[in-house]
Amino acid sequence: MDHDDLRNWSKRAADWAHGYHAGLRDRPVRPRVAPGSVATRLPAQAPEDPEPIERIFTDFETLLVPAMTHWQHPRFFAYFPANAAPASMLAEQLANAIAAQCMLWQTSPAATELEAVATGWMRRALGLPERFSATIHDSATVATLSAVITMREAASAGQGNANGLFSLPRLRLYASEQTHSSVDKAVRVAGLGQANLVRIPTDATLAMAHGELDSAIRADLAAGHRPAGVILAVGGTSVGACDRLRAAIGVAKSHGLPVHVDAAWAGSAMICPEFRALWEGVEEADSVVVNPHKWLGVQFDCSIQFLTNPAQQIRSLSLKPAYLATAGAATTDYSDWTLPLGRRFRALKLWMTLRAYGLQELRRRIRNHVAWASQLAEAVATHPRLLITTPPVLSLFTFAHREGDTATDALLGRINDDGRVYLTPSRHFGKSVIRVQVGQFDCTRDDVMMVARVLRELA
Ligand SMILES: *Cc1c(COP(=O)(O)O)cnc(C)c1O
Repeated sequence: MDHDDLRNWSKRAADWAHGYHAGLRDRPVRPRVAPGSVATRLPAQAPEDPEPIERIFTDFETLLVPAMTHWQHPRFFAYFPANAAPASMLAEQLANAIAAQCMLWQTSPAATELEAVATGWMRRALGLPERFSATIHDSATVATLSAVITMREAASAGQGNANGLFSLPRLRLYASEQTHSSVDKAVRVAGLGQANLVRIPTDATLAMAHGELDSAIRADLAAGHRPAGVILAVGGTSVGACDRLRAAIGVAKSHGLPVHVDAAWAGSAMICPEFRALWEGVEEADSVVVNPHKWLGVQFDCSIQFLTNPAQQIRSLSLKPAYLATAGAATTDYSDWTLPLGRRFRALKLWMTLRAYGLQELRRRIRNHVAWASQLAEAVATHPRLLITTPPVLSLFTFAHREGDTATDALLGRINDDGRVYLTPSRHFGKSVIRVQVGQFDCTRDDVMMVARVLRELA
């Protein structure tokens, strides 16, 4: 395959993609395939000789596509959708064509500067103050890990990187039970250890009990441990729990501790001023992660970390051997802000998406999702066999079968085998619940209400 073939096949791929998207509602959201069924149909080794693209393309269409879960299906209500608005898919095509590796300003001047500009647009759109600058990671997992390593290095005065944590007091981090597993992964990978992530109980609203946070920090200080930072949630993944940032950050700051806020899915909604009460006080945080690849239509991967003191994160993560040194004026090298050296050109899809739709259109979609989720929750509440277990937080709510876990789990199995909609499970206060998360870029009210119809038939 050469560049002329690529040109022809790209056109074919574009036509194929158009048809694929137009026909998504006719496909089950999740395929009914048994584990291993795809692998057994593929040869065990790579061909020695070139194969015609025609044949490879046909295999893609017939072997792979039917065995995919369709994330861009308008009735995908599982996890949180990873959206791909058409403008962002176009941006990815262009980024693929250039295929730049954007580790340093010098390896990608326009990409680096666009990253600063487009994340600056996002900062303003979200109502965050000017003292935040930002970078784009691949995932909230890496953003949170970067923040945790920065906390570790600040609390250990650089000892973690230099000598390891062996001779230090225990470094302690604090988060509620509602934070995402990426926080657990970060404390493990950063070498702090799971036991040093202190789980602060939540109150009746599922927000971290900030009095308990204060007591936990004091107890650790008394025990000779060293508090290193607090991680707060705005829109937990399971049921959408939101910590009350102003109060919790107040406690953290009274002990001089840095704060990282995980608003991976809910953060995009803050382009609508009426939802900002959910993260009231966020401007006092040191680090905030928001994934435009979840709710803003920007294709995966695009996770923005806003930072008030990037210099501290750069001190913790930057390593510049001689072969990476670049001469000349001071520039931003975004690989200094994160773990991987190599970086994709992610700013292009953020910039093109923001321009192609404008903030008004993006707000309109998010507002619709929130309104429809709440209308659907009302419909579910009227079903005699179902009950709402957590009310909507923005576009996420959970429900369960009144007869208990076995009935709830069986119902979810029937819903997903049916294929018209796709929902996922969680647990709340030890009980099985079914999550509904509305956020697919192109879903309509009818798509959302299809969940009620499926439930009427299957519950
Ligand atoms: C999705 C999600 C994450 C993980 O996001 P990745 O970008 O996939 O790493 C973390 N926290 C919350 C609250 C999420 O919703």
